[in-house]
Amino acid sequence: MGLVVPAATTPFTLYLRCDNCMRESTRDIKLPVGEGIPRDPEELIESAFLGDLKFNCRPCGSVIAQLVGIEGGYVHDH
Ligand SMILES: [Zn+2]
Repeated sequence: MGLVVPAATTPFTLYLRCDNCMRESTRDIKLPVGEGIPRDPEELIESAFLGDLKFNCRPCGSVIAQLVGIEGGYVHDH
């Protein structure tokens, strides 16, 4: 027996590709747990959280990136 303590945050890893130099990078983001907080990649995409993310490619300075993948979140059975 044991008590499962809910994580304080929902971790996601975003896979981004720079629109200018095509370098790929990852970004770890953590969201608070609560009402209306996305818990899986689909919900994350539909949420407003991604719109607040700032991208800045270190090698070339581009601020435009394409989101090529998301990992993480809570897996729930259907
Ligand atoms: Zn770049």
